[in-house]
Amino acid sequence: MALSLFNSLHRRVEAFSPLFPEADAIGFYCCGPTVYDFGHIGNFRTFVFADLLRRYLEYRGFRVNHVMNITDVEDKIIRQVAATGLSLAEFTGKYTEAFLSDLQTLACLRPHHLPKATDYIPQIIDLIGRLEQRGIAYRAGDGSVYFSINKYRACGCRYGQLVTLDPEAQQRTERVSGDSYDKDDLADFALWKARVPADGPVFWQSPWGEGRPGWHIECSAMSMAILGPSFDLHLGGEDLAFPHHEDEIAQSEGAGLQQAGRPFVKHWVHAAHLLVDGKKMSKSLGNFFTVRDLLNKGFLGREIRFLLTSAHYRETFNFTLEGLEASRSALSRLDATVAQLTEKAAGSVGSALGDPATPLPLESALIAALDDDLNVSKAWAVIFDWVRETNAALASGSLSPSAAAERLGAWKRVDQVMGLGARPVEEAPAAALALLEKRNAAKAARDFALADTVRNELKALGWTVEDSKTGSKLKRL
Ligand code: AMP
Ligand code: ZN
Repeated sequence: MALSLFNSLHRRVEAFSPLFPEADAIGFYCCGPTVYDFGHIGNFRTFVFADLLRRYLEYRGFRVNHVMNITDVEDKIIRQVAATGLSLAEFTGKYTEAFLSDLQTLACLRPHHLPKATDYIPQIIDLIGRLEQRGIAYRAGDGSVYFSINKYRACGCRYGQLVTLDPEAQQRTERVSGDSYDKDDLADFALWKARVPADGPVFWQSPWGEGRPGWHIECSAMSMAILGPSFDLHLGGEDLAFPHHEDEIAQSEGAGLQQAGRPFVKHWVHAAHLLVDGKKMSKSLGNFFTVRDLLNKGFLGREIRFLLTSAHYRETFNFTLEGLEASRSALSRLDATVAQLTEKAAGSVGSALGDPATPLPLESALIAALDDDLNVSKAWAVIFDWVRETNAALASGSLSPSAAAERLGAWKRVDQVMGLGARPVEEAPAAALALLEKRNAAKAARDFALADTVRNELKALGWTVEDSKTGSKLKRL
């Protein structure tokens, strides 16, 4: 079986195959953050999903050229720059750094390219110029440049590839100047926005005078500049399908840079939203948590990642702190099994961590789950069945060190996809270390009753003592 994914372009699950089978890598673009604030974990659900898909493609033997843009000029950013008095670069630089650090906290592999829109102004201007030459872009009275949906259609192109548009809305010919609008407000949209006093110092020179790009054209220009006019995969949250992605298709295909018969993007993949009380987690509703909020509550990045990857990417799910607690305990069961396997495998001769000739049952079951439209909830069920079965084998004493090493190897390969990593080694707190000393002293003095009492006090702190020939050490319970 091959990997299949739901392609929003055709509203069906399709086998994934590269657009250019001879190319050395798959072109993979995910719309990145708008850096006007810290990202919330709803945003990160989409980015972690993109990371999971990239990791799985790599696991299946593809090379992936992963691009994620940074939107560092756009309506909301301009408003914030004016309010804070900072320069555009100072303001967006702070949130870009924070975003990259959060991405790392959630164990997302760093995209190979992280283009910033402000570094691509010449490419954006070229693209708008090309649309103008083809008669698809026009200047409005205020000096801004708009995309004409009717002219685009007149060239034989289809507007409404990712969403089904209301026929009445399709007749309208007015314009929208903002970057966000609904399907019902369908209209010509801005490619280049003429400078207005509220823009302050944020503007660039262009053939149409001073101004700045619209949001949608930024992604068309950056993706095609790095990946070429046609590429394999384009991802984003479901809210981006319209108008952002529909407009990206219109701009990119309207410029006519693709070879005959080639689309701008072959597979469009959209991730469903993370909800809070049934509503989309969003800045405007104020119902959000940032990664930092959750770290401050004592959660780990890998626990947040586990929760964010627990549901199928096309299903919304509700975020709750209780759900995150449940993720923590599920993860500690998995960690305990992996720790036991590691101990058992320590006695095995040689390393069984390399690729076996045939995948072990855990890996075959994982592949079957993830090939099926990246069914990650099925993948977790497979992993936790394996945890139960491994625990039973460990408990019965039937697992040889080399069998344990083989299982551990399979888990490590599976985790290259899931991205949980090992449980961080926790330093014992000073109170526990003091109790360890007290207990060792009691043992040396043959006061075993006191030694046992102290052992119980340690247990209450979540630590246990492990004695060996080289001394005693603390271990997390
Ligand atoms: P933004 O920074 O607003 O441009 O959003 C960055 C990404 O996060 C986009 O792909 C959005 O579709 C996605 N996104 C925003 N809110 C949510 C949410 N509640 N759940 C999942 N993805 C989201
Ligand atoms: Zn985009």
